[in-house]
Amino acid sequence: MSSDENILTSKPELLYRFPWLSFTKVKFKEIGKKNPDEFVEWLYKKYWDKNKVNIDKKIESIFEDAINNLEIIRDFNPKDEELNIYIYWMLKIILFLLNNPNITNRIANLYSKNALKQLELLRDEKMEDLYWICSDLGLDVQYYEDPIKINAVEKTNLSVHFIDFIKMGINLRDDYRKLVNNSLSHGYVFISKNRLIRLLQEYVRNEILKFAKTNKSEEDPKERTDLEEILTEITPFKITFEKIKNLIKSKKIEFSSDYTETMKYLEGKDLSIFFPPCIKFLLSKVQQSQNLIHNERLFLVFFLNSLKYPIDQIINIFKTLPDFDDKIAGYQIEFAIKKGYSPHSCAKLETLGICQKDHKIFGDEICRKGFYSRNQDRMIKIAHPLFYMSVKESRYLWKMKRRDINEQKITKIEKN
Ligand code: SF4
Repeated sequence: MSSDENILTSKPELLYRFPWLSFTKVKFKEIGKKNPDEFVEWLYKKYWDKNKVNIDKKIESIFEDAINNLEIIRDFNPKDEELNIYIYWMLKIILFLLNNPNITNRIANLYSKNALKQLELLRDEKMEDLYWICSDLGLDVQYYEDPIKINAVEKTNLSVHFIDFIKMGINLRDDYRKLVNNSLSHGYVFISKNRLIRLLQEYVRNEILKFAKTNKSEEDPKERTDLEEILTEITPFKITFEKIKNLIKSKKIEFSSDYTETMKYLEGKDLSIFFPPCIKFLLSKVQQSQNLIHNERLFLVFFLNSLKYPIDQIINIFKTLPDFDDKIAGYQIEFAIKKGYSPHSCAKLETLGICQKDHKIFGDEICRKGFYSRNQDRMIKIAHPLFYMSVKESRYLWKMKRRDINEQKITKIEKN
């Protein structure tokens, strides 16, 4: 394959489909050079004046998809061409302003899943596009016109230098990312299309997560507040930004760190009285030494970790499982914790068959019907297991308060 560095110039469809490619900055450098405020102003004007595209709706829907843990960006269409790139750049700006690692995490997950889907849709039997994508990302890859046999069933046209191969999969646990499980020749790993796509998905996730890292280590928060001030002078941006902030506020219940602030592991404190049916059910299975399926294990680890249970306590819980192996379990649990995922929402748990709201022993009314919120004067559905815990805790505290008041009244009567 020729080494034409600008091959992506003649493949703009790849740039529209994969807005995280670095060549987008070269291809659209005139726009990329603009200051954030010039860019934002230009973007709203261009798309509204020309095509009446509601940029705010598009961006808002991406945040909705991310918050709802969807597998794809519903509104994503490669036919939107360079708009996909500009929206991706806008997201960078908005994530920077929000400075919320939780949201950045959700957007990173959403974009990476969307990238996986789009990569799978590529009609790229000879892996040429994948070669250009990897090259664009600065990966050391080699292309073979004649496919190389990797194993009894798979062939490939590509190999990746082992350093890049390791770097890309550093946070993955799948067995295939280990060098020993791959064919290696002269420092290059022969890699199948599916496995490469999975590594690229991880690459996209990490790229977006870098926004959060930059924000965290940022020494000058003034830079962010100054930029917010400038950008919110642009009315359509202000409207979009406010909508997103309101969306995050209204979906607060979806974010574990927001509602587990008071609900944290503390030695001697029994949190299990607040556990939701799904968790009680899983723990009862564990106590009876019944095996848990992969999704159940992960959910239990994410859940306990979000309550800041110490790792040895989590491992102890898993110790009764029939296939428990100290070393493997320790590694797997540490890995799951390192990933920092929030526990799934109730909607997701329902699709995974983990929800137990109707269980004859553990099921309960709060999960089935929701609860009445005095503040909002309406019934609210339980959308997240951690939210369930907050509801249970506030009911418990209210009950305790009532009991104290009654006891004080009784003491007063007795004294009189
Ligand atoms: S409704 Fe949610 S919290 Fe309740 S059992 Fe189902 S998944 Fe768990």
